[in-house]
Amino acid sequence: MKKTLTGILLFLCTPFLHAQLSEDPPKDCRYCEAWNQTQEPYHVYGNTWYVGTAGLASVLVSTEEGLILLDGALSQSAGQIERNIRKLGFDPRQIKYLLNSHAHYDHAGGLNALQKLSQAQVLASADSVGVLSSGELSPEDPQYGFGSEHNRFPAVSNVSEVADGGTVKLGEVTLTAHYTPGHTPGGTTWTWQSCEDGRCLDVVYADSLSAVSAEGFRVTDPSRTPTVAEQITASAQLVRELDCDVLLAPHPFLFQMPDKLEAMASDPGTNPFIDPAACDAYATFFDDWLVRRLEEEAAEDSMVSDCEPAGDYSFMCGLKSAEDLVLVPGTKWIIASGFAEGGFYLIDSEQKTFGSLRTSDEPGASQDMERFGACPGSPDTDQLIMHGLNIRPGEKGHSTLYAVAHGARESIEVFDVDASGERPALTWKGCILTPDAQEANSVASLADGSLLVTIPLHTGIEISEALAGKLTGQVYRWAPGDSGMTPVQGTEMPYANGIEVSADGKEFYVASSGLFTVTAFSNTNPARVLRRTDTLVFVPDNLHMSRDGKLVTAGLHVEDDACGRVLQSEEFKLEAFASCPRPFTVWSIDPQTMQGEALASGPANPNFSNITMGLEVGGELWIGTFAGDRVAYRTMNR
Ligand SMILES: [Zn+2]
Ligand SMILES: [Zn+2]
Repeated sequence: MKKTLTGILLFLCTPFLHAQLSEDPPKDCRYCEAWNQTQEPYHVYGNTWYVGTAGLASVLVSTEEGLILLDGALSQSAGQIERNIRKLGFDPRQIKYLLNSHAHYDHAGGLNALQKLSQAQVLASADSVGVLSSGELSPEDPQYGFGSEHNRFPAVSNVSEVADGGTVKLGEVTLTAHYTPGHTPGGTTWTWQSCEDGRCLDVVYADSLSAVSAEGFRVTDPSRTPTVAEQITASAQLVRELDCDVLLAPHPFLFQMPDKLEAMASDPGTNPFIDPAACDAYATFFDDWLVRRLEEEAAEDSMVSDCEPAGDYSFMCGLKSAEDLVLVPGTKWIIASGFAEGGFYLIDSEQKTFGSLRTSDEPGASQDMERFGACPGSPDTDQLIMHGLNIRPGEKGHSTLYAVAHGARESIEVFDVDASGERPALTWKGCILTPDAQEANSVASLADGSLLVTIPLHTGIEISEALAGKLTGQVYRWAPGDSGMTPVQGTEMPYANGIEVSADGKEFYVASSGLFTVTAFSNTNPARVLRRTDTLVFVPDNLHMSRDGKLVTAGLHVEDDACGRVLQSEEFKLEAFASCPRPFTVWSIDPQTMQGEALASGPANPNFSNITMGLEVGGELWIGTFAGDRVAYRTMNR
């Protein structure tokens, strides 16, 4: 209201000086406010001036015969652009031509108001004429899928076509249109010469060349010829090869405007906008963007197309690094730890479907202060990376889930799982922080509520030292009410990994990924090693008790023709190990004798490696991985 009043007053005071600009309704968008921050207009070079906002460019070219304006930013930027033009001493009614980089609301939104004010002719590429005239994107636009409400901008009058290579002449200045599609079908890069004291430089107003796009849009979509990826490559090459002394672009960060303005302020004698290498760097910036985008689309392709069964194994795809799996007691539901931010997955083992599983309660409302009083409060589960899991049945369809967590904090997070309803529900109960924020690996629970936790590598110790046989980690113990975990003397070993307890709680078992063994300890006297398996042919990872009282572990083969031997030396690199697909074995161990037999094994599969565990559910064996996009399942052959 106040604004309108001021406008009226201004109008009354200066009725004959100039026609008033009438802004279209403001666009509401995520970055609109930030983009529309005010910016002092400034002189770029010769007849070239910046009159845009802090976040969206608008470029003025002054000639003997009038003005040319490139881009109108947002609808709510029009007034600012008009004022900036006046500040520089020009009259916006003298704009003869309005040009556009591309027809999106953040560069074309202010054009209608500026056109109405100046009655200028608007010139646009063949593909942009219709978009500008209607304010609606064409279905070919990568952002079309965001929807009309999001994309729409005020329709512009008096738009005509300029051909690729076509020119716009006004006074002594000629601007050339170069079609540079990719970001939009009609994207246009404009070039002209600006002269100062007889020195004429080539100015390039280069359009955006990334394909920011709606869900499902693919730059490699083969139904388009050329593909958007091919358009971007060609457009970037075109910009690279332009005569280019001064680079400007629709988004100021793309030509480092803040840095250049700062440089200009600190040394007014120089002009940092003069940079003959800028167009080359601009093209490289978008080439790099395209490389990343192509990698993403290729990864999507491999995920979708290779989810077919392989040999005895079927796959459930789309779970990010489901490292550990536990069965919710008495149900068909499997909880998987997404070894990625965002909590857990819940798998329906019968329907072969999955979804995410998150806590439903009010944060902090449910902390069990008696058991977990030392826990500093409920976590942001979106910031946690869940690792080893353990589940212990309770009463009335409830059980307790213990999860090793990384990320936001290094801890064991404890949850109540209520499986009495249709779908298990998770309520956070508390946590136990690891000593000195060391990274835990696995957790086992005892009937009295106490826990045994493995820390594979004490702080600062490399995994290669574990594979060289050094005692790099050990088991820690915690009991309800304890303020923290304490080390269990006698359990020091190379890379203490999976851990499990016997049904009576008298023994516990630990897999060592450095020794390739599983060791049985006495819970009352852990310094005494009870039994140990022979050296296994694979690197044992997680360890769980199956319903028949056997210990189940799994891992990748130590020896492999293609990948070589897992190096038990300083040279071991986890990334190299994880990136070479190896055969795997799921192994069942009789805890009385520590003798074992294979439950399953599989050949190297580039789509499914880094196997960590096996879980029997119904008549099936489910298998997890610490680096992959799926879990596997197969019929048990016994
Ligand atoms: Zn855009
Ligand atoms: Zn933009």
